[in-house]
Amino acid sequence: MGSRNLNKFAILISLFIVSTILPSFSTSISNDITPPTGIILFIGDGTGFEHIELARLVEYGPVGGSAILELPYQGSVSTTNIDGFTTDSAASATAIATGVKTTNGRIAMNFDASMDLTTILEIAQDNGYATGVVATCHLTHATPAAFMAHDPARGNYQEIAEDISNASVDVLLGGGSSTSYLGNYISGMESEGYSYITNKTELNSTTTGSILGLFTSVSLTPMYLKNETSAEPSLLEMTQKAIELLNSTMKPFFLMIEASQIDWGSHDNDAVYTALEAIEFEKSVRYAKGLAEQDANLQLLVTADHETGGLDVDEYDFLTELPLDTDDFETRKNKRIARVGEVSVSWLHGGHTMREVILAGMGPNTQKILDATHHIDTFSIMREVIDGKTGPVQINAYEGHVNWFVVGFISILGVAAILTAVLTWIKTKRK
Ligand SMILES: [Zn+2]
Repeated sequence: MGSRNLNKFAILISLFIVSTILPSFSTSISNDITPPTGIILFIGDGTGFEHIELARLVEYGPVGGSAILELPYQGSVSTTNIDGFTTDSAASATAIATGVKTTNGRIAMNFDASMDLTTILEIAQDNGYATGVVATCHLTHATPAAFMAHDPARGNYQEIAEDISNASVDVLLGGGSSTSYLGNYISGMESEGYSYITNKTELNSTTTGSILGLFTSVSLTPMYLKNETSAEPSLLEMTQKAIELLNSTMKPFFLMIEASQIDWGSHDNDAVYTALEAIEFEKSVRYAKGLAEQDANLQLLVTADHETGGLDVDEYDFLTELPLDTDDFETRKNKRIARVGEVSVSWLHGGHTMREVILAGMGPNTQKILDATHHIDTFSIMREVIDGKTGPVQINAYEGHVNWFVVGFISILGVAAILTAVLTWIKTKRK
């Protein structure tokens, strides 16, 4: 390697280290953005581009369109955690919710759990927004938790439940009435003014006020196991009601909606489970997209926390006709299940991957999607709409962090350099 090449090499290494060790953040105030009617953030847990494609093929056929892929702004973002490794749902939800990369397992706390990180939901509340969280898992699970709670470990469900009970979120819809999750806090929340509801009928008749809707003891029934008489609302029904309730407050609102179980179907490499959850996700986005088309001030964002399973859609040969809105519940479900069987898919494994995920949307600040490279940028897009600033609230959240990936990389380079020097010295000695 000549000295000029060596210089280039050194510059490249320095750039790599600077960009990896020192994650960039800037708290700057932007130009005026029209104040939003609301921000709706959809997160498909474990949902890669191929999950969206599988749902599209099954529900609408090869020439049909996915509402997610038809959003006017489309981009992709990295989901890696603070050390540059594969993320879990806690670290990625923390990145989306707070604009800070962290260690796997943390719930809205920084890498060494020395600092609570202000979430986008809290920023929205501080700016007079009504807020809501909807999920198909128990609400103490990592993704919803990272918007409302602060804890060093995602498994500390009681501490997380206590945080959620004190978070003053106006609309909470999902699972988790067991005392292992939110159960011990329900009566306290009722005395704080929440209406507690447990089924679809009660949800339908609710038109105003703070709502705690826990429809199962743990998580909602997967779509492929549900039947027509189920008392549980679907993700679409929860989405519709949450938006209605938040709109009724006459305030701007922030709403996070998670399709939690696309991830679980993918961990099982179960295409039917995965596809039917992904279809419900797409239907919910389709509904919100319809609203955003009527309201230019509604900020809609759709993303995933990470990809799960390394799913690839290979080929398809459909014999079963398309599911129709006019079909009854069972017919529609059975058509979907049959059509998933007519698509050949492959999975890499049963874990999370480092594949980039979609970030798509429409609304006041959506053109920024084109510049977004990581989930911390998803946070900034939302924050800018609310208070005109970008970057996290805790700008010192990375202080003291050692990036072990970079340390390992530099160590290997160092050992290689020493070996080369020793070998060269031996060679010259022999001559
Ligand atoms: Zn997962």
